[in-house]
Formats: sequence, C-alpha cells, structure tokens
Amino acid sequence: MAAKKRKFSEDYVKFGFTFIEKGELQLPQCVISMNVLSNDSMRPNRLGRHLKQQYPSLVLKTKEFFSSKAESLKRLRLDKSGSYPTASFEIAFMVAKQKKPHTIDQELIMKN
Ligand SMILES: [Zn+2]
Repeated sequence: MAAKKRKFSEDYVKFGFTFIEKGELQLPQCVISMNVLSNDSMRPNRLGRHLKQQYPSLVLKTKEFFSSKAESLKRLRLDKSGSYPTASFEIAFMVAKQKKPHTIDQELIMKN
C-alpha cells in the first residue's frame, strides 16, 4: 500500500511549520518545538491542530512571525551542515579518540 506523498505548501507556514527533506519525502517540522512530524501529518488540519493544542497563545500570530522563525531554523541547519570542515574535524577527532591502538602507535613513534 503506497501512501500518498504529501508536499509542503508555503501556506503551512501560517501553522508554524516548515519542512525537512528525508529522501523523497518532505516532513513537516514545527518551527517552535522543532519536532518533525510524519509525512502523513502534512495537511492543514493536522498542522493547525498542533499549533492550537501546543501553543494556544500563538494561534493569532501572523504568518510573518512563523516565517521568521522558519528562517532562523533554516540558518541553524545550514550552520550545522554548512560548516563542513569543522564537522569532519569533529568526526575525525572522535574516531581518533576511539582508536586506542593509533594512540599507542604514536607513542611508540615518539619514543623511537
Ligand atoms: Zn511544535
């Protein structure tokens, strides 16, 4: 049973949602809690309900309010994935820390 793939509409921003891409799917992401919902939840009534239930005080906020939230969320994501050298350095560092024999090798070299 192939579920219908739902697409994000710019209009959903007014419910406080942006989206992330996961393979071929678009998943709605709440700009307030940053929670990612299922592709099946990508419909106005579901997104609207999240807003109403979770943030009753934000229901009357404008689309611009959520839009600016979505923008800063996107920038946050870009910072994370965009800073490639830092990220790969961190991974290399973690791998190096886990590889004990490598450290020993280096110590041996130092002694020689
Ligand atoms: Zn939320």
